[in-house]
Amino acid sequence: MSRMRTADLVLVALLLGAAMGVVFTVLVQAARARAAAATAVLEQHLPDGVAAVLQTLDEPAVVLDGSTSVLLATDAAQSLGLVAGRLLAHPEVAAVVDDARGAHEPRRAELVLRRGAVGTASLHVTVRAAPLGVSLVLLLVEDRSDAVRLEAVRRDFVANVSHELKTPIGAVGLLAEALDSAADDPSQVRRFAGRLTAEAGRLASITREIIDFSRIQARDPLHEPQPVALDELLAAAIDRSRVAAEAKSVEVVRGKRSALHVLGDEALLTTALHNLIVNAVQYSPPGGHVGVGARVRDGVVEISVSDQGVGIADDDLERVFERFYRGDPARSRSTGGTGLGLSIVKHIVENHGGDVRVWSRVGRGSTFTIRLPEAAAPDAARPRRRERERV
Ligand code: ADP
Repeated sequence: MSRMRTADLVLVALLLGAAMGVVFTVLVQAARARAAAATAVLEQHLPDGVAAVLQTLDEPAVVLDGSTSVLLATDAAQSLGLVAGRLLAHPEVAAVVDDARGAHEPRRAELVLRRGAVGTASLHVTVRAAPLGVSLVLLLVEDRSDAVRLEAVRRDFVANVSHELKTPIGAVGLLAEALDSAADDPSQVRRFAGRLTAEAGRLASITREIIDFSRIQARDPLHEPQPVALDELLAAAIDRSRVAAEAKSVEVVRGKRSALHVLGDEALLTTALHNLIVNAVQYSPPGGHVGVGARVRDGVVEISVSDQGVGIADDDLERVFERFYRGDPARSRSTGGTGLGLSIVKHIVENHGGDVRVWSRVGRGSTFTIRLPEAAAPDAARPRRRERERV
């Protein structure tokens, strides 16, 4: 009886399997037929090879028929939001297409388009439309939004740096005059001299960052990488930040020691870490604490700098690593920075084969984490490097 039941079950299973196989085959054939039909539709409309060429393009491109309906759109065109169903999403773009078709010659336009259905963000694009055969039009779109934004940020930077430089330079002039007229009063002389030194220091740090930045851009730290001990790196970067921390009465607390190493340029890595520590100090309240530590996870060394300072608004988080970008202008101006510090960090870390991440909450603080591939300790690394030289 139980053997009978087993045989029945086996039979049912076999029948089910066969039925599923048939259903599957039918479904696959139906899908193939649909795909073939879709290709046929495209091939009916598009000149030979156009579809194949467009599918290899990384750029936004769209082919439109005589009534400006979309025949084909590349993935980039879809993700830029140029196409809505069978239509172009922006009437301004459709107008350029119609114009090219009507004139039987290519048309080009610079447009500022609405990005997405909601919000005020805009896309800056260069649109080129060219007739393709009798009634089709090929539309090529170049997204220049990043370039336009960078240019705006650069303009801001020039304005910021001129302002940052003008203030201490003006102050130096005035203080020199004050010093001259107070020559007979030693206590006044000392007071003005102290302020003169502070302004000179500020000028020096602005100039240093600008010079650092252009130098760092020209250097490849992985050309002749050396094993760098994290203990020494942390100590050097904290040491360089001591004056800034003391001036602000912020305590920089170091995590426990590690025997970790990374490969690269010690001076550049110290600059990167120093920039993060100085920021953490600058954006902390007086008397605050900044934590600096390192650990390894799955072969990736993570060096983190945490503060309990002002934090960074969500909108700014994505942009803080951009060149010249500064958060809240009023607050960041009072810190005397240039907006270059974090872009220097990003540049250095990426050139070391790593990345830098940020976590932050307004009013709670921020944690910046540099992540780099772990390297063997020098003793183990040396033979390997010699071996490489022999090859
Ligand atoms: P800056 O010279 O203005 O400090 P950075 O490139 O170092 O330039 O930083 C860019 C912006 O990121 C700053 O203007 C500031 O708004 C924000 N920022 C950086 N680090 C911190 C931090 N630890 N806490 C809060 N905001 C920060």
